[in-house]
Amino acid sequence: MITYQTVERKVPRTVICDICKIEYDCDKECYEAQEFIHINSKCGYGSVFGDGTTIKLDLCQACFKGRLGDYIVVVADCMDEGEDEC
Ligand SMILES: [Zn+2]
Repeated sequence: MITYQTVERKVPRTVICDICKIEYDCDKECYEAQEFIHINSKCGYGSVFGDGTTIKLDLCQACFKGRLGDYIVVVADCMDEGEDEC
């Protein structure tokens, strides 16, 4: 038997691209919001950003592709029929 409890938790309401500044409603524009790229990385010793700093960046998919698209490796969905491996 499993019993449940009701808990209060924070969920995103909107996401804002750090480049184009467009704000997406996570409910009404869920497909765009779910495709955001979120970077949250702890830097180590010798980082160009400073030792021990943390860098954060939230980008919409259009800006991410526009700025880094030439370097991104896109892999087809491995769940497609007929594919044995990714
Ligand atoms: Zn953007």
